[in-house]
Amino acid sequence: MLMSAPLHFQTIAELSAKLSVGQLSAVELTQAMIARTKAVEPRVHAFNSFDEADALAQAAASDARRRAGQSAGALEGIPVGLKDVIAVAGQPLTASSRMLANFVSPYDATVTQKLQSAGAVLHGRLNCDEFAMGSSTENSAFGPSSNPWDLTRTPGGSSGGSAAALAAGSAVATLGSDTGGSIRQPAALCGLVGLKPTYGLISRYGLIAYASSLDQIGPFARTVEDAAIMLGAIAGHDPRDSTSFKTSLPDYRAELKTRRGPWKLGIPKEYFGAGLDPEVGAAVEKAISFYRSQGCEIREISLPHTQYCLDTYYIIATAEASSNLARYDGIRYGHRTSSAKDLLDVYQKSRAEGFGDEVKRRIILGTYVLSSGYYDAYYLRAQKVRTLIRQDFLNAYREVDALITPTSPIPAFKLGEKSADPLAMYLCDIYTIGVNLAGLPALSLPCGFTQSGLPIGLQLIGQPFREADLLATAHAYEQAHGWNTQFPSL
Ligand code: GLN
Repeated sequence: MLMSAPLHFQTIAELSAKLSVGQLSAVELTQAMIARTKAVEPRVHAFNSFDEADALAQAAASDARRRAGQSAGALEGIPVGLKDVIAVAGQPLTASSRMLANFVSPYDATVTQKLQSAGAVLHGRLNCDEFAMGSSTENSAFGPSSNPWDLTRTPGGSSGGSAAALAAGSAVATLGSDTGGSIRQPAALCGLVGLKPTYGLISRYGLIAYASSLDQIGPFARTVEDAAIMLGAIAGHDPRDSTSFKTSLPDYRAELKTRRGPWKLGIPKEYFGAGLDPEVGAAVEKAISFYRSQGCEIREISLPHTQYCLDTYYIIATAEASSNLARYDGIRYGHRTSSAKDLLDVYQKSRAEGFGDEVKRRIILGTYVLSSGYYDAYYLRAQKVRTLIRQDFLNAYREVDALITPTSPIPAFKLGEKSADPLAMYLCDIYTIGVNLAGLPALSLPCGFTQSGLPIGLQLIGQPFREADLLATAHAYEQAHGWNTQFPSL
C-alpha cells in the first residue's frame, strides 16, 4: 500500500531504496518536496523559513557524492526538516520568538552535523511554540501551524510544525524537541511516530535551552523503521554536552527484526482515569488487546506519584526556563529595544517587547519558585518529588518491560479552543511529562482514528537506553495495523 503513495508521502526506507538504484535523484526528490510545500504551506504554515536554493544545493551535493560512490547511508539525499530551536550555521534560528526574529545561527548543533554527515538535505526551520513552551503552536510569535488532518485544529505542540510538515508531505522526516511531550503529543495528533529518547542519548549542543534537565531532541517519522534510522543518525556521546551519556549504540534499524516479544507490558492505572476521551481510551484498549493476542503478558501496575507530575514539571521546567532565558537581555542576543534611557531600561524593555505572554508567565513563575524563602517550599520539594516519580517507573520495570498508555488524553483540538486557559493547555501533557521527569525513552505511534477522522496516538514507555526494545515493541504493532498508510487529503 505504501508503495503506491505519492513521493511526498513515502518513507525514508522507500525513498532511499529508490535513490540507491538511481530511480530517483536527490535533486528530483527535493524539487518534489519544494513543490509540495509550496502547494500546502499557505494552509498548514509548518515552516518559519525555507531556503529553497540552499536545499537544492545540498541535494546536488548529495547526488555528486552518490555518483562518486561516497554514500551508503539511508539518509543520503533525504529531505529532513528541523524544529526552529536547533541550530544550523548560517540559517535563521528563532525559537518562534520575536526575541530572535532576526537571529542567524553562527554554528551547527551536533544533531545538525550528524544529519549532514549522514547526507540528509536540511531544508527548513519548523514552527513551534515560542521557546518550545506550549502544546498547540499557538504561542508562536509567527502564528500557529494547522493540523493537516483538519486545518481548523492544532497539530499539537510545541513541535507542531515538525509534525504538520511531515503529515502534510513537506518533509520525509523531521526533528523536534521534547521537554514535557512536545514530540509525542504532536505525533499523536498528526498520526505519526514520534520518539523522545532517553535523557542523555542525544546531544543538546546547539538546541536552544528551555528546561535543560528535561529537554531532549528526537525524531518524527512516518514509520517505526524510519524513526530507528533517524535515531541511529543522531544518537551518541558528545563531549560538548556534559549530560551526554557514554553508551554503546545498537543498530536500531537492524534490531527491529531481531528483538521479538512476547513482552511483559504494564498498564499504569493512573493513566486511564478522568479526562481521557472515550474514543482515545477505546483505541488504546484495542492496542492492548492486540499485544495480549500476541502472547504478551499484560499487567496493571501503579505509578502512585502520577498525580504530582504536572505540578512538579511546572515548577522545575519554569525554574530552569527562568535561568536559561536570562541570557536574552537585549545586549548579546536578539531583540534590543530602540527606546531605552539607561542599561536597566534596555533589559526591561527588550525583554518586555521580545517575549510573548506564555514565556513571560513562565519566567515569572520560575523566578518565584527559585526565590529566597520559596526555594525550599517549591523548587527543592519538586526535586524530591521528581525522584519519587522516577522511582515509580523503575519499580514498575522490575515487573514489566515497557508501559502502554494513551499519548494525549484528547485528539487534536480546535485552534483557539484552549489558548485563553493555560491550565487546560497544561493538562494536554498529563500522560507525557512523567517520562521527562524520569528521563525515560518513550514513543508515540498511531493506533487509529476517531469517528471524525482525527488520528489517535498510543504511547509506549521504555527503560533507560533501551530504545531498541521500545522500537521493536512498537514495530510489532505497526506491522500488524498499518495506520500510517492513510494520509490526510490536503
Ligand atoms: N507542553 C509542555 C510545555 O508547555 C511541553 C513542551 C515541550 O515539551 N517542549 O512545557
